[in-house]
Amino acid sequence: MKWLLRRCRRCGRYTLRRDKCPVCGGELYVPHPPRFSPEDRYVAYRYQAKKKAGIIR
Ligand SMILES: [Zn+2]
Repeated sequence: MKWLLRRCRRCGRYTLRRDKCPVCGGELYVPHPPRFSPEDRYVAYRYQAKKKAGIIR
């Protein structure tokens, strides 16, 4: 599973677009930490762990 989510630098919204923010047209970046590989098979497990820890909702 590839991580397709991008975040806008200007307004902070998340989007699946890769060119620019659909809301304000701002620049996008990939918000996930670089130590997490997009191909990581344990990404779902880590998501659950972070969810439990209250890091993300
Ligand atoms: Zn934006």
